[in-house]
Amino acid sequence: MKVLFATAELAPLVKVGGLADFSAGLVGALRAKGVDVDIVLPDYGDLALVPADQQQLDVPDWAGPATIRQGTLGGVEVSLVAVPAMARPHPYLDADGRGWPDNEPRFLAFSMAVAVWATMTSPDVIHLNDWHTGATLGFLDDPPPSVLTIHNLAYQGATSGDRLESFLRRSDAYDREGVTNLLAGAITLADRVVTVSPTFAAESLEPETGFGLGELLEARGEAFSGILNGIDTDFWNPATDLHLDQHYDIESLDNKREVSRSLVAELGWEPNGEPLIGMVTRLTDQKGVDLALEATSILDDVGARMVLLGSGDRSLADAARRVADQAGDRFAFRDGYDEGLAHRIFGGSDLYLMPSRFEPSGLTQMQAMRYGSIPVVTDVGGLHDTVTDADDFPTEGNGFVADEVSGPAIRDALERAVNSWRNPSRRAEIIRRGMSRDWSWDAPADLYNDVYSEITSVH
Ligand code: ADP
Repeated sequence: MKVLFATAELAPLVKVGGLADFSAGLVGALRAKGVDVDIVLPDYGDLALVPADQQQLDVPDWAGPATIRQGTLGGVEVSLVAVPAMARPHPYLDADGRGWPDNEPRFLAFSMAVAVWATMTSPDVIHLNDWHTGATLGFLDDPPPSVLTIHNLAYQGATSGDRLESFLRRSDAYDREGVTNLLAGAITLADRVVTVSPTFAAESLEPETGFGLGELLEARGEAFSGILNGIDTDFWNPATDLHLDQHYDIESLDNKREVSRSLVAELGWEPNGEPLIGMVTRLTDQKGVDLALEATSILDDVGARMVLLGSGDRSLADAARRVADQAGDRFAFRDGYDEGLAHRIFGGSDLYLMPSRFEPSGLTQMQAMRYGSIPVVTDVGGLHDTVTDADDFPTEGNGFVADEVSGPAIRDALERAVNSWRNPSRRAEIIRRGMSRDWSWDAPADLYNDVYSEITSVH
């Protein structure tokens, strides 16, 4: 089976969020199972590929000139597509955290190059990810069997540029009442549409939570489903993690206390025996960062401390900084994207807060559980599929779930979590359930493989 896998991100070198982890994790697991996967990634300008076997791609003038280089990037075989529009310091955002104004035409050019590459290489399956690659099928007269994975329904690549519409052979599929919608087109044209958790798939069909695409997804019937993401359990492994100064597993949790002590010292605080709540996130409305900041008001009363690492929206970063300035050593904010600190927060925190308004899959709650940090989450999307409330389900709970997306419900869940954490045997049991579950890509990769087999057998 030969799969062309087109993505805007690939961990660890080109990473903004979970899409990067998905690409690295799923492709790694598929390759380990013998699937021949060609990862096609945009060249944002500074990626050192070795060795570089370069070919021209015969794209129209508006998209080019385009070249593709095949080689190894950080030990992983990739095909890097260079088109002038893609070379930027950040894949999507300017220095103020706003989207580049020409993001749609940029990714149209990338998708055009992917389409040309597909005609040159004749894969058995083409696997697209999110709106960035959504135009690819519209550029192909006779596309191979195709899968689209939707990582975030909120980002659709919608643009009113009529010029763009005329570039697409199947522009009817991309037209949403006069607006070109690159995700909608791919939803219509792909043989299978998958989103990243079963609960988010169900939510996507509802008018309030479908981001305007619910009916379109509903029309795909059984061709639309959810497959829960995994995490790379070799990379996310507290027993070997190079970012931690002590290592531990489920049998040696005492060492986790050392990791916590180091993190507290890194934050400039004295140890005080209270639980530490961690949060690692993009700063966007989706992630409920404002709700988390609001919840810091109970830290004094419940006796807990909190650290937030986040990058993105300036106004949320400013708000977090203001709260931290007032909070002394109750709440710390670290502004930016910091892989090492993220690992130390998963390793050093006791509880992990994720109050998302919506969450297609969510990876950080799984990363937290893998590192023995107990998740406190809202009951949405992939959070619903991974976290079970330990008060409601005492024999199987692995975390705490707020019963609605609201400040009071999140504060209540946090308070319940802190109270349970104070009971050592209960705490150990909840941590054990989170750490012992298989969060790896093994099972999800089998499900994707089944999808590939289905679409190639009926095509
Ligand atoms: P999303 O893809 O919506 O941002 P996910 O939870 O699915 O959210 O995945 C986010 C990924 O990015 C995780 O691997 C997480 O550890 C990482 N991450 C998010 N924010 C940061 C940050 N500020 N610094 C380092 N890593 C981060």
